[in-house]
Parts: sequence; structure tokens; C-alpha cells
Amino acid sequence: MQRARLIAVTAGAVGVLVAVPAAAVDSGLGAPGIGDVYYPDYGNGGYDVSHYDLRLKYQPVSDQLEGTATILATAKQDLTRFHLDFALDVSAVQVNGQDAKYVASGGHELVVTPPSTLRAGRPMNVVVRYSGTPSKVKIDNLTPWQRTVDGAVAANEPEMAWWWFPSNDHPLDKATYDVSVAVPDGTKAISNGVLTRRTSQFGWTRFDWRVSQPQATYLATLAIGKFDMRFATTKSGLPMVTAYSDNLGSAAGAAKASVERTGEVIEWESGIFGPYPFDAAGGYVPQTNVRFALETQTRSFYSPAFFARGSNLYVVVHENAHQWFGDSVSVASWRDIWLNEGFATYAEWLWSEKQGEGTAQQLADFTYAFYPASSSFWKVKPGDPGKGKEFHESVYDRGALALQALRNTVGDAAFFRTLREWVAAKKYGNATITEFVALAEKVSGKQLDELFKTWLFTSGRPAARPAAHAAR
Ligand code: ZN
Repeated sequence: MQRARLIAVTAGAVGVLVAVPAAAVDSGLGAPGIGDVYYPDYGNGGYDVSHYDLRLKYQPVSDQLEGTATILATAKQDLTRFHLDFALDVSAVQVNGQDAKYVASGGHELVVTPPSTLRAGRPMNVVVRYSGTPSKVKIDNLTPWQRTVDGAVAANEPEMAWWWFPSNDHPLDKATYDVSVAVPDGTKAISNGVLTRRTSQFGWTRFDWRVSQPQATYLATLAIGKFDMRFATTKSGLPMVTAYSDNLGSAAGAAKASVERTGEVIEWESGIFGPYPFDAAGGYVPQTNVRFALETQTRSFYSPAFFARGSNLYVVVHENAHQWFGDSVSVASWRDIWLNEGFATYAEWLWSEKQGEGTAQQLADFTYAFYPASSSFWKVKPGDPGKGKEFHESVYDRGALALQALRNTVGDAAFFRTLREWVAAKKYGNATITEFVALAEKVSGKQLDELFKTWLFTSGRPAARPAAHAAR
């Protein structure tokens, strides 16, 4: 509740306020959504999750996932009923040790009625037993669970959790995780964080993963299959886990030549953005046909397509920049996606500059010219791309142009100080574009409304490229 109101208050001038029905609060009904501007039914109201404990078993041959989720939460209001977001088949729900009634509704909502009212401020312990065939579940036309020749992958944005664990599915409600997955011997199960244990019994190997810093639900990942799994320690002492499908074929070398350099990339990014926010690092490359990468916390997912023609450090730079911009500092609403993609793309420009492959200014000039004024590229506003257009090129490329425009206007010192102050102030939290603009103005002492309006909130190509010599 409080958070939904927070979004409304901090929403920019272009904001659409999401009303949380007061009646729902009074009647003890937890709202079916947390108040996202684009996706009002994502996440839920009335409670706040602190920890997910998932104990799962997966059979690749049949794509059968089964297990138990134990969810630790706190009621934010008196609750006679609350929602979880989930799409697999549920066989039992308990709340605070007692059997609860439940019903699936509207595709991804699991509505739970505990036997007695949950009191505001009190702990909630919710146990959900479930099973299903995730690849067969289609909701809102989405089928993000990827089956592979020898396993499966859960990695998608903004929506993935529905297909593998019940949750309060929105970045506003972050939590820690223990994810324990049993798979047939010889198969591996990879998730986020640190591998705390690996055991084998009765033909099944169980992998236990722990996430000790707050993590958004869409950043939880799971990969099952035959992998070359590697354990290392970065120069600064971070445990690093990388994994490569045994079936990458001719891309295997380039994949390893890229992702094995994650430690080096993180050290370099720490020098620019400030301390790395998590206690583990790494990445994995499954055998999949999807063609994107995802900054799944501490363990980025990379499509092998990125390495089909050779090594690619830019994607490693991009996904790891998201560990600061997206994972530690998360969007308050999906409308704020520029805070993730604009910044991760700009990190690529900085890497290019460091490699001597083109300065950020050269890339800005190139990008501005690359898309002619008539191109539909310029129609999408990076600061408010619209539901379903969060990953439009404009959010990435024009998003990076906006940062180059800021850098040129405030100068390097204020620009990089703004980035560092941003990740420090919002560490493990949520943020809006409006808040970033306010911080950039505070650090630089300049009025920047016009600049951000031009680069983030206006449809059409700005009259001039970000000028290289404007900085004083
Ligand atoms: Zn990205």
C-alpha cells in the first residue's frame, strides 16, 4: 500500500496515478496489484516479502517441475485475503501453519484465504506446494520458460516468476532467497548467488543456492542442463560461478573468452560506479534459441547468439553494469526502465572509450546520425516508452544519448559524481526517473528539466546531437 502511494507521489509530470482502492484496505482484501503504471496487476498489495525458500525438483525429460515454496512476509494491513502471482498447479497452501483456501484466478493470480485474519505488522509464513509443466503454460500470450535439449532456462523480463515460483512479483518487493533444486545425476542446476551445498542421493543431485542481498523476482533465474561449471575468485575476492552448456558447438570458445572476463569487467565498473553491490558474480550461457541477455542477479544469462561470430565483451559490460543499475537500484515502475537500459548501454560506450574503439562522444554522434529523423526509432520516448516497449532500441540508444547530453552539460566531474551518488543513495532500493533528474540537478547545480524533456520525454529527433563542447 504505502509503496503504491509512493509511486503516485513521485510519478513525473507525465504520470498516470494508480489508485489503490481504499475499500480494499478497509475490508482486509489485499490488492491484486502493487500499483505499477504499465502493469497494474503485477505484484500484490497488503504484504511485503522478506525471503523466498524454494525446494524444487525438475525432470528435464518431461519438463516436470514440482516443489514447495516457503514465503516469509509481513502483513502491511489486516488481511482476510491476499494474492500471490503464480501460474503452475497448486496442491496445498498453508498460512502460519494452518491450511488455507486458495483459488487460481485471472491467469497469474493465486488468491489465498487464510482461516483467520492476518494482522497488520505481524509475520506471515506462507507455504505453497505445487507442480506443473512450465513450457505448457501460456499467459497473456507469454511462454518465457525455455526448454533446451537437456534442460530448461528461466530468464525473462519483465515477467518470469509466474512459471516457476509463487511471489509478490514486482521489483518493489525485493527479498533474499534460498533456492534448492534437485535434478537427475549428471545434470546441473544453476541459480543466483552462492552455491552453499551440492549433494547426491537416489540418482538425484541437489544444488543449493543462496542470495543474501535483496533481489527482485524477475532477476531470480534457474538453468538446468549439462553444463561446464566453473568456480573462481575475482581479484577483489568475490566468488565467481560461470557455466557453459556442453552443447554450444563452435560458439563455446568465444562464450568463455567473454564471460570468463566478468571479474575484470566488474573491477573496472566498480572504479566508475562504486563498490559492487553483491557477494557473488558470474554468468551462464545455455543452449537456447532466444536472442537476448539478462542481468539475472549475480549470474547474468547470455544467449549463445551473442558469441556466434566471436567474443563479445560489450554484452558482459552491459549485463554487469545492470548489477548496479537495475539489480541494486531497481525501477519503481516499469515505466522507469531507462534507469536500467540507458545506463547499461552507456557503460558499453565507456568500455569502448577505454578500449580505444571510439569515445562515448563518437558513439553519440554515430547513433544520432544512424537513425534518420524520419525513423520510427525517434517516436518512442525512452522516459516513457509505453507498456510492452520497455526494450525498444530507443530506451537503450537514445537512452545513452540522454546520458551523453547530461555529461556534456554538467561536465565529467559532476556527471560521474551523479552516477556514484545515485547508486549509493538508492542501493538495494527502488527509484524513479524523476528522482534521478532531481539528483543530477542537485549535484550539478543546474536546471536540467529542458535537457531531460528533450532527450527522454519528447517524441521525434531532437534538433541537435548532444554537443561535444557545451560543458564548462
Ligand atoms: Zn540491458
